[in-house]
Amino acid sequence: MAVELLINESAIQDRLVAMGQQIEADYRDRPLTIVAVLTGSLIALADLVRQIRIPLRIALVQASSYRGATTTATTLVVNEAFAPDVANRHVLLLDDILDTGQTLSALVQHLMDRGAATVRTAVLLRKIGRQVVPIEPDYCGFVIPDVFVVGYGLDYNDEYRHLPYVGVLRQ
Ligand code: 5GP
Ligand code: MG
Repeated sequence: MAVELLINESAIQDRLVAMGQQIEADYRDRPLTIVAVLTGSLIALADLVRQIRIPLRIALVQASSYRGATTTATTLVVNEAFAPDVANRHVLLLDDILDTGQTLSALVQHLMDRGAATVRTAVLLRKIGRQVVPIEPDYCGFVIPDVFVVGYGLDYNDEYRHLPYVGVLRQ
């Protein structure tokens, strides 16, 4: 399969610098924990945190969604093995892409239930036209059309995550 370039490496890095500055200004004097959603956001996490020059903690969450065989409803199951301690922390939840919005909205609720002081969301990509759950990311890298993308953390069958750019997977 071929990968067609959509967002190049330097555009991603430039955008992360700007997002980092914004986060830095917004979280000055507030204890920040960045909670990254495994596995897709790992590359963005590593590059983003190095642009933020205020104290912060890093935590991880893993969630899997299951679509019922006979229904279209999805259930999100959060892996408690990671269980980040977010009590009284200001949480910035980071994911690779906002698609239907189900993952982010369920995880926001999960982190609030665990006692976070506040929860905001950051995504590298936001796909237009597929959202079913109303959620507005507080920080967004790029808005993209309804195409399947890989690279820079995003996978197809667990491959392509290591590409330094975001591309569209073509059959
Ligand atoms: P949501 O819950 O918003 O529908 O889905 C978000 C998750 O779906 C992302 O964390 C990601 O794992 C996956 N996803 C959605 N769109 C894409 C895409 O275009 N490419 C890849 N690789 N994963 C996607
Ligand atoms: Mg994901």
